[in-house]
Amino acid sequence: MSFTLHGIAVSSGIAIGHAHLVSHTSLEVAHYALPDQLVQEEVARFDAALETARHELAALRAVRPQQAAAEFDAFLDLHLMILDDDHISKAAREMIARERCNAEWALKVQMDELVMHFEAFEDAYLRERKTDVVQVVERVLKTLAGHAGHAPPATEHGAKMILVAHDVSPADLIQLKPHQFSAILTDLGGATSHTAIIARGLNTPCVVGLHRARLLVRENDEIIVDGEHGVIIVNPDRQILAEYRLRQDQWELERKKLKGLKTKRAITLEGVRIELHANIEMPHDLPDVKENSAAGIGLFRSEFLFLNRDELPDEDEQFEAYRAVAEGMRGLPVTIRTFDLGADKQIKGVQRVASNPALGLRAIRLCLVEPQLFRTQLRALLRASHYGNVKILVPMLSGAAEINQTLQAIATARQSLDREGVPYNREIPVGGMIEIPAAALALNTFTRKLDFLSIGTNDLIQYTLAIDRTDEEVAHLYDPLHPAVLYLLAHVIGNANKAGIPVSVCGEMAGEVAYTRLLLGLGLRQLSMHPAQLFSVKQRILTTSLAGTEAITHKILRADDPAKIRELLDRLNAG
Ligand code: PEP
Ligand code: MG
Repeated sequence: MSFTLHGIAVSSGIAIGHAHLVSHTSLEVAHYALPDQLVQEEVARFDAALETARHELAALRAVRPQQAAAEFDAFLDLHLMILDDDHISKAAREMIARERCNAEWALKVQMDELVMHFEAFEDAYLRERKTDVVQVVERVLKTLAGHAGHAPPATEHGAKMILVAHDVSPADLIQLKPHQFSAILTDLGGATSHTAIIARGLNTPCVVGLHRARLLVRENDEIIVDGEHGVIIVNPDRQILAEYRLRQDQWELERKKLKGLKTKRAITLEGVRIELHANIEMPHDLPDVKENSAAGIGLFRSEFLFLNRDELPDEDEQFEAYRAVAEGMRGLPVTIRTFDLGADKQIKGVQRVASNPALGLRAIRLCLVEPQLFRTQLRALLRASHYGNVKILVPMLSGAAEINQTLQAIATARQSLDREGVPYNREIPVGGMIEIPAAALALNTFTRKLDFLSIGTNDLIQYTLAIDRTDEEVAHLYDPLHPAVLYLLAHVIGNANKAGIPVSVCGEMAGEVAYTRLLLGLGLRQLSMHPAQLFSVKQRILTTSLAGTEAITHKILRADDPAKIRELLDRLNAG
């Protein structure tokens, strides 16, 4: 049966392929086939994870609370029993060998079977024990994450597979990079969630906020994904398929044409140069930056170096990563953001339970309460500055106290390098992200104390409009054109320009062609975006007259009716 679902358009392009579902429970598990020669290794990996889980449970016995020792022992005995149940240990093991699949998948399939058995019990107590099964499997999955497996291989029809998930974390999505699904669909998420941002970086069509796709779509269903309009068509008829194949060809032709802009400079019709920089997540994104001829890196989200691992990267490992990017850019600016962990990017060891993670210990707030972690990164960044044009960018600053503490932490890191005689750029610029309305409103503090500013519109919009950027239920309220957002943007750009402090926008707004002229009209001259977006934005700049743009932008700033603002924006973008 053919049906259509509407979600939130996140990453453009049209994909046509077959659905590959990931788990329907809260445990999102990838499924991939292994080549023959890796099967034994995978079985060993599974055994090692079981053993680790056994040890963990045994260790818990030593710290059980005295006042509830008996209940705790019963719980541990039950979990150990489930761990050794044939379904979990033996059957999953056999399945890996038989079906040549990854351990996580085998475990998940066996768990589903066992849960079904438990659900069939008449006794309510026994029925409830399915929760314990899921908890045990979660424990093993976590330990499996610590026993590094093989990246899912690019299957023969890999390029045609469409990932359908209830939700995918940014950490999981970044791991998919090498094996390339041709589209990504999720039930949850908003347009500027980090999952959406990574999908855009992968240059893969993506629709989020589909609500029930994971439930309605079946494995291997044929799907058309229209990433531009946020629509998916499941099991389309031949006529629709033919129409979308045509659209897909046209879209690819457009992309090819845009490549012709590679050697062109980004200048407006009156010859004003606009600096177009790239956002990256990992050093291996560098070839894309070059391919799309970015004039620098405006945002290196360094926290991605910290995800998907047990041990955090030490100073030397971080230094090598930053140096590789600094050297690779050959003197062009490389703006490295200190890690923005917390909220939707959690790491082991410093994970904290917050009732509202977006408002909790995130980014610089986390750095300042974990001074050792911060110091390690600052030393690595300073050391890398000796090898290129490195700038330090600090996320989520809210005011003078945090700026002062940050600058003090940098000074301390510098002193430690001085004592050891380690070279670094003594003039290294330190900038702040403007992501919190308080920062935008207290801008003078920022222009006085910092060398440059970068506006994170994703968070600035989230915090100004009080909408969680990861929550699809409020995604319709996310509005870059809200007068309050426009006021803050105009205020920050105008005052930074007046103070002679370089300012850029590195949030998703920077890469959306619909907003390019508006941002230029507000006085912005530097934008940073995913490499894949650079040519479209450059094309728009090449056809832009600043004089006309500024006049309409001022009208937009005075308007408060959404329809009127849209109409003016259309006028701005015409021609
Ligand atoms: C932003 O908030 O706009 C930004 C660039 O940072 P991130 O998306 O990583 O939070
Ligand atoms: Mg941000």
